Amino acid sequence: MTDLHQRITQQLRTLSLKGLIDLYRPLAEEAAKNQLQYEEYLALLLDEETRGKTDRSVRTKITLARFPFLRTLEEFDFSFQPSLEEKTLVRLGTLDFLEKAENLVFLGPPGVGKTHLAVAIGIKACQAKKRVLFLTLPALLRDLSLSVRNGTLPASLLAYSRYHVLIIDEVGYTPITREEANLLFQLVSIRYEKGSILLTSNYGFEDWGKIFPDSVVAAAIIDRLVHHARIFPIQGSSYRVRDKIHRRKSAKPSPSSLISQGEGEIKASL
Ligand code: ADP
Ligand code: MG
Repeated sequence: MTDLHQRITQQLRTLSLKGLIDLYRPLAEEAAKNQLQYEEYLALLLDEETRGKTDRSVRTKITLARFPFLRTLEEFDFSFQPSLEEKTLVRLGTLDFLEKAENLVFLGPPGVGKTHLAVAIGIKACQAKKRVLFLTLPALLRDLSLSVRNGTLPASLLAYSRYHVLIIDEVGYTPITREEANLLFQLVSIRYEKGSILLTSNYGFEDWGKIFPDSVVAAAIIDRLVHHARIFPIQGSSYRVRDKIHRRKSAKPSPSSLISQGEGEIKASL
């Protein structure tokens, strides 16, 4: 290591510009080859550093959002899901709904892509430097109930209100107690007109009375949730099942084996 390289490396570390340590020399060679001016070389270095910082910050945002998997809007196959208009969903990717803190609600049976879409829009929000958190309704209710027991509910609600996007997944898979329904109501109220909620449910609103202890509390939650919301009822069959059938087809099984063994396995995998 030359003295100059050592000095530069040390200073880049001190200035927290570590990304440039491996880059400044190749870029200097490129600059020399292309006969760039000193200022142009400096601009090149700063561009790289800015890009690196942005990438790191988006990656951090995505990690902090705790998505269960990473799927993008571009990966969503709209031809499989004609009940959704591609143009409308692509527009959601521009995050226009965040300006008025509108909520997005995806309703439909298992496997139609509700979580995929919520994650994909959440990722777009991370890329736009927004604070995002993903959690299932049972996990959210567990956390809120714990904070009640610890006497920290106000702080906990405040923390949840600070996210630009709060994704609440899987509303309806497990029944909800009266106390939990009350906590959810408080959460939806605290975010009302302040921050967007992206919510997925396998039940249409008309059936929410079955998930909640009574239809009054369900109505109160729905009322706040949908006042400023875009609602996407999704129909159709499960993409997971299609995936399974496709994989089976590409393995070229005999038609009879597909029917006799396939169905059982498909059901078991749902
Ligand atoms: P849901 O939340 O409605 O139960 P998911 O979003 O978890 O369904 O989707 C199940 C799986 O199928 C995921 O891996 C998801 O990426 C995939 N998937 C669902 N719908 C589509 C689609 N239209 N295009 C591409 N992948 C899809
Ligand atoms: Mg889901």
